Amino acid sequence: MDVFDKAKRSDIMRKVKSKNNKSTEQKLIRFFNDNKITGWRRNYPVKGRPDFVFVKERIAVFVDGCFWHGHDCRNTKPSDNQEYWRKKRERNIRRDKEVTEMFERRGWKVLRIWECELKKKNIAAVLEKWRATSQSE
Ligand SMILES: [Zn+2]
Repeated sequence: MDVFDKAKRSDIMRKVKSKNNKSTEQKLIRFFNDNKITGWRRNYPVKGRPDFVFVKERIAVFVDGCFWHGHDCRNTKPSDNQEYWRKKRERNIRRDKEVTEMFERRGWKVLRIWECELKKKNIAAVLEKWRATSQSE
């Protein structure tokens, strides 16, 4: 059984989510700075709401929370309410895919970065991804 009613739960989740987003976005900004990657805009008002966009290069960047977006890593093992989380993640995954396809149809490139990749020990992988995306035709 659920301890929180629906409204209360979504309130809690919203707080957790925005707090997480903030710190992961900060990490990505540090990554851009460290690698002298310029031209990004944050929270650019475009459909699909990417976390960052490079308008000139037409690149949309999303930082996906492992838990929320169903990354198969150790961040995603909730013990309670398995069914609830599974459904929620499935919805997010489906939406992520739709958004990616929407951008690609318009000729944009999409870079999706997992929250866990922003850890120091994984950051080299982000640079690889960035290079692969920004240099692809
Ligand atoms: Zn992950």
